[in-house]
Amino acid sequence: MSKEQPLVLIAEDDRVVSGLLERLLKRDGYQVLVAEGGARACELAVAHVPDVILLDLGLPGGDGASVCRQLRIDLRTQDIPIVVVTGDVSKASLASTLDMGADDYVTKPFDPEELVARVRAALRSKRRLDDLKIRNESLAEMAFVDELTGLYNRRRMLERLEEEHNRARRFGYPVACLFLDVDHFKQVNDTHGHGSGDELLHEVATILRGCVRIYDVACRYGGEELVVILPQTTVEQGEFVAERIRATIEAMTGTLGKIKATVSIGVSEYPRTASSAQDLVVQADAAMYQAKRAGRNQVVCFDPSISPAPGQSL
Ligand code: GH3
Ligand code: MG
Ligand code: MG
Ligand code: MG
Repeated sequence: MSKEQPLVLIAEDDRVVSGLLERLLKRDGYQVLVAEGGARACELAVAHVPDVILLDLGLPGGDGASVCRQLRIDLRTQDIPIVVVTGDVSKASLASTLDMGADDYVTKPFDPEELVARVRAALRSKRRLDDLKIRNESLAEMAFVDELTGLYNRRRMLERLEEEHNRARRFGYPVACLFLDVDHFKQVNDTHGHGSGDELLHEVATILRGCVRIYDVACRYGGEELVVILPQTTVEQGEFVAERIRATIEAMTGTLGKIKATVSIGVSEYPRTASSAQDLVVQADAAMYQAKRAGRNQVVCFDPSISPAPGQSL
């Protein structure tokens, strides 16, 4: 069914009423589905996810209140606006239906114009809710992502590292960590300007992302330091990935008149040498510093004889 015309599910056992509702709504450009019982209404709601549900309170096979409750607890239907249409104006049952999660109600006999206006109003608030959700999701995404590189930021990296370490501990598999630092990056800024430095960093991050699997977690740790978390990966496998990243950055930067970069990468593994999430980063950082001391543009795996990186303790 086309989604341009909003879809209304009419849950109504009286065929005269449902026929009237159907005509009214179709005349106003809606698509319509009709269910004659509560269970069928729930089935159709899950299968078609209508934009609005018109719900008769007195339905065979489940009264309106229990249909409401069922629609509200199912993740697939919980945000669909429900407008109750009822001849039963007894306050108690109406109140309990609203309490069960209905959004609005119309009493029978209803005024056709009012009914269609209430469907429109329900649709409007649903659209506002949908827009808000999309905006919230993109805000949450923005809060996780580093603007310059498009990689996860440090905060998100620390969260993901904790999650991956917990999973690894629980299921008994290894996790590797790569700590990457661009060589002589200060010189790039000094020689070509900060803007060119930014561009190079973006390029390095893009190459890095292309070198890892989609379930690996690539992050900007800070400045020109990037971290990759590799789930279910040993230090040897991590070293292999790190070497591919190092070689690719060396080969791909500096072409077409652009600036050349090399990187130094340290590798660590839980549980081989690291015993915590924090250890993984500290040890990979120390190994990266060892790579700097050994002449840069290389990969070093952490071993306990390596001394800590400045400002860190092992
Ligand atoms: P090496 O790592 O090889 O020891 O030398 P380096 O010059 O890269 O080392 P250092 O850590 O001293 O310098 C890092 C420089 O990175 C300093 C800082 O100005 C620059 N930098 C950090 N973040 C950014 C950024 O977002 N954009 C740019 N353009 N430069 C940055
Ligand atoms: Mg640095
Ligand atoms: Mg550097
Ligand atoms: Mg550092």
